[in-house]
Amino acid sequence: MRRLGDPFDDADDRSWRAEFLREEQRQDRIEHLGRDVGAEARDRKEVDRAGQAAEHAATVWLWTSRHSANLESPRHSHGGLTLAHTVVIGGGICGLAAGLTLAERGQQVTVLEAQDFLGGLATTLRGATGAGYDFGPHAYHARNQRVLDMFKEIASDGFPARAKNVRIKFRGKYYKYPLEALDIAKSMSPFLAARAFFDYSLESLRRKLRPRPLVSAEDWVVQAMGRTLYGLFFGPYTTKVWGIPPSQLAASFAQHRIPHISLAKVVLSSLRTGRAKITGSEHRYAPLVIELFYPPKGAGLISERMAERIRRADPRNETRTNTLVTRVEASGDRVTAVWVRRVPSTRKAGQLAQLATGRENDGNPYHGVDAPEERIACDSIVNTAPLPALVDLLGDAASAEAKAAARHLRFRAITIVGLRIKRPKALPAQSIYFTNKTFNRLSETRNYGGSEVCAPDETILLCDITCDVGDEIWMSSAEALGRRCAKELADEGFIKESELAESVVLRATFGYPVYLVGYERAIDTLMSELMRFDNLVTGGRQGLYKYVDMDIASEMGISMGEFLLSGKMKKDVIAGVPYEDRTFA
Ligand SMILES: Cc1cc2nc3c(=O)[nH]c(=O)nc-3n(C[C@H](O)[C@H](O)[C@H](O)COP(=O)(O)OP(=O)(O)OC[C@H]3O[C@@H](n4cnc5c(N)ncnc54)[C@H](O)[C@@H]3O)c2cc1C
Repeated sequence: MRRLGDPFDDADDRSWRAEFLREEQRQDRIEHLGRDVGAEARDRKEVDRAGQAAEHAATVWLWTSRHSANLESPRHSHGGLTLAHTVVIGGGICGLAAGLTLAERGQQVTVLEAQDFLGGLATTLRGATGAGYDFGPHAYHARNQRVLDMFKEIASDGFPARAKNVRIKFRGKYYKYPLEALDIAKSMSPFLAARAFFDYSLESLRRKLRPRPLVSAEDWVVQAMGRTLYGLFFGPYTTKVWGIPPSQLAASFAQHRIPHISLAKVVLSSLRTGRAKITGSEHRYAPLVIELFYPPKGAGLISERMAERIRRADPRNETRTNTLVTRVEASGDRVTAVWVRRVPSTRKAGQLAQLATGRENDGNPYHGVDAPEERIACDSIVNTAPLPALVDLLGDAASAEAKAAARHLRFRAITIVGLRIKRPKALPAQSIYFTNKTFNRLSETRNYGGSEVCAPDETILLCDITCDVGDEIWMSSAEALGRRCAKELADEGFIKESELAESVVLRATFGYPVYLVGYERAIDTLMSELMRFDNLVTGGRQGLYKYVDMDIASEMGISMGEFLLSGKMKKDVIAGVPYEDRTFA
């Protein structure tokens, strides 16, 4: 019989569990060290606040001057006294990184955010008792040292590192991610393992001797991993997450998100530890991250502090919440202003937020809001709202081709079900991926390092569910979804249903850009259209329609800020850069 909280309850799983416990002890030591550093920093602050402020200013100066080498505001460089004014559409981490880059170089910045909080998807929202819920635990990692340094500096009073500890469950077995050969071999029947190995070898050979054109994500994964591994996990999981089979998703989606696994490297990796474990070819957007950082009080801390710094940099700077951008005004090829409207909070009855652009036909929480519009004039605009919404906001300034192309770009919505559970710990991993449950991924924030997101005798579990606006999941109440997920968790042996203390939902109409086969043509049209506007840049996960994490979204924000500071033209900076490598358009 299964014990509660002990889902790995057979001989193989027990050794795994022992390893998990060892890992936990190691993590506790790392976390303890992190706390010591944090406590020391706090003590120092008590002793010498003025010294700290000076030190902080010096760090920021060093950081910006080291990385933004001699960039000046275009207006300053022409000797004018007025500051250039940039409006940032969207206060997610990308918009905030752009705003911070500009603000710290002396430009006037106005960040406009439709929600009643800043951070977008990278936020931590509070439930009834103050417990923190993320849009799925947002752990920080970065392939770009500059961005990681920025995160670390912003959260210098506590940003413990943890080794990644993620599992995949299918056919009743748990697998480690990144894949480890010995683990797979132990978990599969010998027949299945032999078939997977045979398929993989066959595809590797075929790839070398007679490569096939790769049109869909299915083509790509089959040639990379073989049909058995594709059919076992990738096919069903992708269909569940995206709502369509991988045969309808573009090959570039898989290419960008799934590292090309080399079996030889996977075998070698099983024998290694630490950073040496990274397997497969390096990929910019889907690195096999092995170390994650998470602020103890919640992921939203970084966004909150970025916003504070923007406001502190100049009294004219603003970060305006409850402010929906309704139009972008242009004169010829220059944008001149945005129009905004005050909108109410999207928080209601167990729903902590519903992110939306206000341009949706269905699922627009601002529909019917008729507060007067206000015009905000500006010298330049950074957009981080979804790319199709930007085209819509441009109205007549966008060509008919661009409008048609924008209609080909779709987002999959998300509903995150947050559960506050009356027990200090529930899961044996940070996250577990499932193919046969209501949710795709189940995570425990505490296991990422979120030790202070709730009371010590409770824990926060987050269930990621991808859905479509208006479907059964989207329309269900927080309470109904909470009960449903809690039952599935109890069936799995992680909790007792009676331990459920609170259920909340966090929703977004734009969770994942859907890379439908042929989406590249629509993107090409939009990329050329946007080249026209030198003082309008768009970036971020939604703004550039790229399935990226917070590190790349922040990098995009920084590059947009730096581009505007440079006073250069797009044709001189990004004309020759293919879409895949672009950090803004
Ligand atoms: C379930 C899930 C889990 C994730 N986990 C991780 C993780 O663990 N680690 C990681 O690094 N990344 C993770 N990510 C990715 C990460 O969330 C994003 O890369 C990042 O937050 C994107 O930031 P952004 O600013 O580009 O976009 P967003 O955060 O989406 O910000 C866009 C903002 O624009 C606002 N907006 C839209 N339209 C308008 C308008 N008309 N007027 C005004 N404002 C508007 C929105 O309200 C929103 O705040 C995850 C993503 C998801 C969906």
